[in-house]
Amino acid sequence: CGIVGYIGHRDVSKVVLDGLARLEYRGYDSAGMAVVGEKGVQIVREVGKVADLARQIGEFPLEGTIGLGHTRWATHGGVSVENAHPHRDQDGSVVLVHNGIAENYLEIRDELAKEGVSFYSDTDTEVIAQLLAKIYDGDPKKALVELYRRIEGAFALAVIFADDMEHLYCVRKGSPLIVAFGDGENICASDVPAVLPYTRSIAYLGEGEMACLSRNDVSFWDFEGNPVEKDAVEIDWDI
Ligand code: GLU
Repeated sequence: CGIVGYIGHRDVSKVVLDGLARLEYRGYDSAGMAVVGEKGVQIVREVGKVADLARQIGEFPLEGTIGLGHTRWATHGGVSVENAHPHRDQDGSVVLVHNGIAENYLEIRDELAKEGVSFYSDTDTEVIAQLLAKIYDGDPKKALVELYRRIEGAFALAVIFADDMEHLYCVRKGSPLIVAFGDGENICASDVPAVLPYTRSIAYLGEGEMACLSRNDVSFWDFEGNPVEKDAVEIDWDI
């Protein structure tokens, strides 16, 4: 129900835990994060509060400066560690967090199962990850435009591709998502409070808009793949 994605120079697990805590008002039943580190993408997930996730990360620190975090409000699949986000495909080539619902997930799940994909969770989100990995041929933008076309429902996604770990990608269809512009760091999140410790300069993703974040740059395009220019908005309020 809450998304935080960070790419920059800070300890990402701290940024993500703090951001998720700032989104707690949205409600959730489990939490998790993925951190890009020396060993690739590491994932930690926990049922319960952000504080429970923080405790686990305190015991097994995840070092890195790029990552994704999520608080889940279960809609498809019970409340369990297996169903908590981030989710990935069977080869670990994409890792993502998701807010919302993929309405046609059963149909896609059946299709993928026939092609030999095996599933580890009951979520619609894992189906999105497995489908994205199937579509992906090295061009993230093209794959996300195609994914957008295939998934019905309202959702927001933040994605890491294992072969392109210096970028974060996000997609908005219905569910809210913002991008925040920092100095050598950029953030995406479900809502403004998550980014206020770092910057007040943000852009609201519009319907069908997608973004690619690196440390020093953000680019936007629409669901047909056409580039979109977005002006930053300055946030002049506090929480
Ligand atoms: N539909 C997804 C799930 O049940 C995401 C729910 C959410 O928005 O947190 O895992």
